[in-house]
Amino acid sequence: MEISKNLLGFLSTIPKNVQLVAVSKTKPAEMVKEAYDVGQRFFGENKVQDLVAKYEQLPKDINWHFIGHMQTNKIKYIAPFVQMIHAVDSSKLLKEINKHALRNNRIIQCLLQFHIAEETTKFGLNLSEAEAILNNNEFKNLKNIQISGVMGMATFTDNTAQIRNEFKKLKEYSDLLKEKYFGDKPYFKELSMGMSGDYLIAIEEGSTMIRIGTKIFGSRS
Ligand SMILES: *Cc1c(COP(=O)(O)O)cnc(C)c1O
Repeated sequence: MEISKNLLGFLSTIPKNVQLVAVSKTKPAEMVKEAYDVGQRFFGENKVQDLVAKYEQLPKDINWHFIGHMQTNKIKYIAPFVQMIHAVDSSKLLKEINKHALRNNRIIQCLLQFHIAEETTKFGLNLSEAEAILNNNEFKNLKNIQISGVMGMATFTDNTAQIRNEFKKLKEYSDLLKEKYFGDKPYFKELSMGMSGDYLIAIEEGSTMIRIGTKIFGSRS
């Protein structure tokens, strides 16, 4: 695989204001380094153990994003260095992230994960659940986390109209939360949506951050 060529080719096709998070899960640190060497700094992992291992092996100016399901008992391992946690879907998790960020004297950026796909999964919020988190008085006292926006995954389908509708829905939720809870908070601005199969639609629907694995690092076994 020619990672650097794939990466530079890919970057030339996306708007400059869309942040690429290169999803390096299951791929060796050498591949991350190859992307790093041509300028990529944002990388995403979905397993705590793998993220820690790569953090230790690779340059320290990498902006690490955790994109998987976060278990509260594992936050402590990544809290010293993780930049953003993409899939926050409970008050409990938010409080735990805040606790470990505080211990490390850091602010950790978080995205609220919405469930927008038709597939049933136990992960992701609906609008009223997200609002319940933001209305919770305890939330207002969490000084070491910053809600930077929202994240979602569309249904895995060939039906592009459906994918588009799901991304539109996520954008609506984001706009609504911004207006109602983050009007004076410029840091609430990220719309993390779009993967290798659907990023073009996601960008058309307002994505600010795409999470791309396969198209850069090749398919995973
Ligand atoms: C694996 C993964 C991606 C990247 O998927 P590709 O289809 O390989 O681009 C994006 N987001 C999440 C949450 C993932 O787990």
